[in-house]
Amino acid sequence: MISLFNLCLFLICITSNLSAFDVRVLLEKFIIPDTKQVECKLSSQYGIVVSGVKEPLHGSISITCTEQEFIINDSIIKDKILSITPALPSNYENKINQFVLHWMKENHDFCQEQLGQLSDFYEKFVNDHNFRDYAPLYQMMQQCVDRCISHFIENVEHPVISYESLVKLAQKQLALQLKGAFINAINEKNISKSLLKQIKISEKARTDFFIKILEQILAQFLTEYLSGLPHKIINQAMKEETGCLLFDKNKYLGTFYLVRDENTVLLINSLDIDDYLLSVIHSEGWPGWPMEVNKALVIASRTYLVEKILQANKSKRHYHIVNSIQHQTYKGHHKFTELKQAVDETRNIFISYNGEPIVAMFDACCGGVIPAKIEGMNYKKHPYLARTKSCTHCKKYKVYDWKKELSRLEITEALQKDHPNLQEITDIKVTQRDSAGLVKQVLVTTKQKSFYVSGKKMYSLFPSIKSFCYTIKKKGRHFIFQGRGYGHHMGLCQWGARGMVQDNWNYKNILQFYYPGTEFMKLSLSR
Ligand SMILES: [Zn+2]
Repeated sequence: MISLFNLCLFLICITSNLSAFDVRVLLEKFIIPDTKQVECKLSSQYGIVVSGVKEPLHGSISITCTEQEFIINDSIIKDKILSITPALPSNYENKINQFVLHWMKENHDFCQEQLGQLSDFYEKFVNDHNFRDYAPLYQMMQQCVDRCISHFIENVEHPVISYESLVKLAQKQLALQLKGAFINAINEKNISKSLLKQIKISEKARTDFFIKILEQILAQFLTEYLSGLPHKIINQAMKEETGCLLFDKNKYLGTFYLVRDENTVLLINSLDIDDYLLSVIHSEGWPGWPMEVNKALVIASRTYLVEKILQANKSKRHYHIVNSIQHQTYKGHHKFTELKQAVDETRNIFISYNGEPIVAMFDACCGGVIPAKIEGMNYKKHPYLARTKSCTHCKKYKVYDWKKELSRLEITEALQKDHPNLQEITDIKVTQRDSAGLVKQVLVTTKQKSFYVSGKKMYSLFPSIKSFCYTIKKKGRHFIFQGRGYGHHMGLCQWGARGMVQDNWNYKNILQFYYPGTEFMKLSLSR
């Protein structure tokens, strides 16, 4: 079912030397008003680390943003982008140190064997003044480093960054540091004449001498390297509670960026794609529902996100997606871990049409409306939204139909938002529908005048009008609105999907019913 062709997402990171795929979600757009500055309040359990500020900051931190600079306490930072991460608990360095020492003890024989194989190298190093070839040293040390990293992250369920990228980065850092560290360590040793003599003539003495030095270098390198990994990896490997950033009462994983963009400052949350989806599915979905429904929803959300990422890359905007209903509701970290299964078991799967991610619309309940008949949609561009089969699976649920009585006064007051001088209405009726049965136009009458209101406007003005498919009946001084469905009637019907699961449908069948003619594809991410 899943296409062999992968869609590869390339990401231009704001600032990172590791190639992780993080989603950048816009949390807030601060418009620098006439006062020329806005304030943003942030905090985290163990303090926050802000780029350009040396020490972690504790308590609730207020960052002032102006058109030219960021001001934090007494520091003025002129950079255009500020990165903010949660600080790690103060004992984490000790813990990493202990891990490295423990690992070295357990792997002592392996490391000795690796470093022992360098006897030729040690001999040349001691006896040949023109010796320059350090490659064998890098390679042997690398074996030990690889092994330690894999051991460190073996408990991390899905590292934000691939094991391969971590090793690659370690290789790079090791190559940069090793030669210098090696020569410094030897220079620091006060080598007595007798020891020097021994090193020159005895292979065993020489090997022992260098192994000891290299083990120290290795321990130091590993401690520094592991301490510099992304916090999410460290926290998981050390089994620490993941540090979150607190903003506006919500907790967020990952990193925050404050980006100055002309007279606005954008607050962007950059986090792992799976963590993002786990959050969205909690807000947009129904946590207690069967797993297959949640899987279908995760795939729809992922598809929606992929489409937005491609769009963002094209337009080169700083963020991929907005956190509100405008795109997908995202409220940060939550503790409903059972939803994780839906994300994990559909990892990287999205829905495509002609090799492109579809616009994966979904609503709560379709009300049995046939989307293909809905007018005003560009079905040439999105043929998979033109479903011709009626969804009958949501019919048995309460949400399928709704009824609401509104008084003349209530209707008048709502309409007054657009018509400030409107007098009390005397009548309201549907005058035009499309062939799907959705209300296109409503005629409103008062003693003074009559005017039309579009179906879309009615839906946005009255929260009690749950969908576009309804009738209006007059009852004395009241009007009865009676309708079907909850939402826009397009794409996946959540309650329908729930009904399907009860009838033994799986998420793949469900998605192919609601998005006919589509295929599944897999993302290949550089994690
Ligand atoms: Zn339905």
